[in-house]
Amino acid sequence: MHVTKNKRLLAAMEAANNTNGNGYGNNYECDIIRWFEYISENAGEVQRETLRRILEQNYDVEYLKKRLGDTKIQDMDACEMETLYTSLVPLASHADLEPYIQRIADGDTASLLTQEPITKLSLSSGTTEGRQKYVPFTKHSSQTTLQIFRLAAAYRSRVYPIREGGRILEFIYSSKQFKTKGGLTAGTATTHYYASEEFKIKQEKTKSFTCSPEEVISSGEYKQSTYCHLLLGLFFSDQVEFITSTFAYSIVQAFTAFEECWQDICIDVREGSLSSSRITLPKMRKAVLDTISPKPYLASKIEVACKKLESLDWFGLVPKLWPNAKYVYSIMTGSMQHYLKKLRHYAGDLPLVSADYGSTESWIGVNVDPSLPPEDVTFAVIPTFSYFEFIPIHRRKQDCNSAIDDFIEDEPVPLSQVKLGQEYEIVLTSFTGLYRYRLGDVVEVAGFHKGTPKLNFVCRRKLILTVNIDKNTEKDLQLVVDRGSQLLNKTGAELVDFTSHADIVNQPGHYIIYWEIKGDVEEGVLNQCCHEMDVSFVDPGYVVSRRTNSIGPLELCIVKRGAFRMILDYFVGNGAALSQFKTPRCTSNQVLVRILNDWTIKRFHSTAYC
Ligand code: AMP
Repeated sequence: MHVTKNKRLLAAMEAANNTNGNGYGNNYECDIIRWFEYISENAGEVQRETLRRILEQNYDVEYLKKRLGDTKIQDMDACEMETLYTSLVPLASHADLEPYIQRIADGDTASLLTQEPITKLSLSSGTTEGRQKYVPFTKHSSQTTLQIFRLAAAYRSRVYPIREGGRILEFIYSSKQFKTKGGLTAGTATTHYYASEEFKIKQEKTKSFTCSPEEVISSGEYKQSTYCHLLLGLFFSDQVEFITSTFAYSIVQAFTAFEECWQDICIDVREGSLSSSRITLPKMRKAVLDTISPKPYLASKIEVACKKLESLDWFGLVPKLWPNAKYVYSIMTGSMQHYLKKLRHYAGDLPLVSADYGSTESWIGVNVDPSLPPEDVTFAVIPTFSYFEFIPIHRRKQDCNSAIDDFIEDEPVPLSQVKLGQEYEIVLTSFTGLYRYRLGDVVEVAGFHKGTPKLNFVCRRKLILTVNIDKNTEKDLQLVVDRGSQLLNKTGAELVDFTSHADIVNQPGHYIIYWEIKGDVEEGVLNQCCHEMDVSFVDPGYVVSRRTNSIGPLELCIVKRGAFRMILDYFVGNGAALSQFKTPRCTSNQVLVRILNDWTIKRFHSTAYC
């Protein structure tokens, strides 16, 4: 009995490694869901088997040899192996792995982190951490990307079926790839994926095709790519089944651009042409011109629709221009939550489906309940992708004044031991050479899918705003900004984007929140917004410090329209890809602070706690 179960387990895991992912039969949607239900049910065992596989593949790499010596732990009984691994290999941060990754980047071909040679390095977007980090990228990375996309598509199609052979309007962008000193290809993980065989397979397997050719995705000029994505999306508008991007920000920025360029797009749809002032890259021009042809009737229809939409401030743009679209799909949680309101505005009555949870280091969880509103979405951990551990964390009590972090932590536990309602930091051991690597994300266990936890993304663990004993995370800031901007909404104005900075140069130190606003707002209202945000920080350290004036009044800076576009350009200019861009919610980067201050047109100081 036990042997049969073990065999089934191994067979299920093999199916996971099959690029076609079709280990069970012909109906891939049912098959991939059945596969996931099975591995979820046996998540604890699957996790141990995953760890065994990682160790079998890599047991004699330099990093592990140093920690495990000659102990062949992969040959041990599963539970013993798990215990020994976690006792001999320490938790690691990116800084611990950096010397190894640097040697790989410089061309050292010894087996440092993985047995299989690493030929590609991914750059994390760096917009959450403040600086870009190299992470190994292997075939496994593309395979798991394909797998999670197919799995998520299968769950979505149960609720929102789409037509086979239809198109997807995808706002996706590759960054420029470059060679490291040792000749490895470096670029963002999404860039490697869009260039991989798996990206093509995904289109064939899901029978849905992206509107834009490769030349548009990989141009490296996001403004030109956005224009072409929009043009091609409209050219194929009656075939578009859904609209998507990696992070919600990209969809919002694309439609904001559309508000300005729709007339030129109409001309191009009508004439089958391509604006020579907007699109200058020859390869992209050729690829788009080879795809489109004149469609005067469609152009007139779009023009009429846009004139009406303009009078409605573009409310319901998506269903109006893409009448067959079933939903809008993108990551809408975490730091993307801010763009939900704008996305809802554009999507009108179409459902918003929140996409999956992952990072450059590894994919983590899939949204198995696509009909839930993005605010309630959780992610079921995929136990074959990496070996996951969870560090239980608790908020510190107010009497503790360590400014390093506002959490205390317990010993890490394996996936099978996580508890409902508990918050954890995720640790992963991956097939790509990361061993007990702290991801820095805080999640909460919100439920279970069979035996695998469903995670709610809480925030990045790193403290973002701190002056002295105060500690506020990205999530705390989001709540405060939500409260402050409610007052804006009453005036019909809109908060386009925001960030913050802890000014500790001037004494007493204080928080500065930068807002970019669309619409006119009276100064009195902005003063109230500033006051409201100051009193909405509930962190006891902040409240006490404000009362004693060891933290000065909160400052609200209103920046000129376009300031956040400048920030995006700054990151893209430094190698980030729009597909992975996340506005930093707090910054101490001097260049960004200078841009923000140069673009500030009004300043308000809170009068709370006076
Ligand atoms: P990067 O590797 O730079 O693309 O960023 C990965 C990070 O983005 C993760 O560690 C999370 O902090 C964040 N992230 C990714 N997926 C989600 C999601 N579904 N919800 C919220 N945050 C996410």
